[in-house]
Amino acid sequence: MFDISNLYKTYDGGTQNVNVLSGVNFKCEEGEFIGIFGASGAGKSTLLHILGGLDFPTKGEVKFDGEDIYKKNKRFLAAFRNKTVGFVFQFYHLLPEFSAVENVMLPCLIAGQKRKEAFANAKEALQFVNLEDRDKHKPSELSGGEQQRVAIARAIVMRPKFVLADEPTGNLDESTGEKIFLNLEKLHEAAKTGIIMVTHNPDLLRKIPRRLELKGGLLHEAK
Ligand code: ADP
Repeated sequence: MFDISNLYKTYDGGTQNVNVLSGVNFKCEEGEFIGIFGASGAGKSTLLHILGGLDFPTKGEVKFDGEDIYKKNKRFLAAFRNKTVGFVFQFYHLLPEFSAVENVMLPCLIAGQKRKEAFANAKEALQFVNLEDRDKHKPSELSGGEQQRVAIARAIVMRPKFVLADEPTGNLDESTGEKIFLNLEKLHEAAKTGIIMVTHNPDLLRKIPRRLELKGGLLHEAK
C-alpha cells in the first residue's frame, strides 16, 4: 500500500523557508488503522495532503501499490484522489448550496457515473452513516456531527482503499466526536478500509491499533 521514503516538504516563506517534513519514512499495509498525532504546526495536515495526492512533496517517494503517485501524470493523480483515497476534513468542506445526497454524489459524477447510479451509491453511503433520512437537507440544516457524517459518506462513496481523516472530531463535542469515530471504526471493520487519522484526542488515540507521532519533521512509531 503506502510506501513513503525520504519525504521532504519545504514551503517557500519568502525570506525564510519552512522545513516541515525532513525525511519521513513510512509504510503501511492494506486495511490498517493508523493514528497520527503531534504538536500544532508539526506538519500533520501537510503529510496527509501529500499522502492523498493533494500537495506535491519537495523531495522523496510516495508510492502506492508500488507506483510513485507524483511521478505519474495529472490524470493518474486526479483518479487517485477520486477513487483510491477519500478525505475527511475537520470543517467538513461540504458545498453549502447542495443537499446532503448531492454532496455525496459529486465524486461519482466526477468519475463519470450516470446520475441514477451516482444517486443510488450516494444513498447507500448515507445509509452506512445512518443518515439516509436526511438526504435532502442542506449542510446548514444539519448539525456539525451530521455534516461530518455526510462528509464521511462522500469520502467512502467511491469505496476507496484508504480514508485520510484530518482531525475529523476536532470541531465536535466529545460524544459527537465519539460517534464519528465509531463510524470510522465500522468502516474499518465492515469494509476493511484503511484509515489514517490525525487526532489530538488521547481517548481516541488509545483505541487506534497503530500510532505515529510527527515530531521534528520525522514520523516515529509511538507506544
Ligand atoms: P499541523 O497539521 O501539524 O498543525 P501543518 O501541516 O498545517 O501542521 O503546517 C506545518 C507548517 O507548515 C506550519 O508551520 C505552517 O505554517 C506551514 N505551512 C502549511 N501550509 C503552508 C503553505 N501553503 N505555505 C507556507 N507554509 C505553510
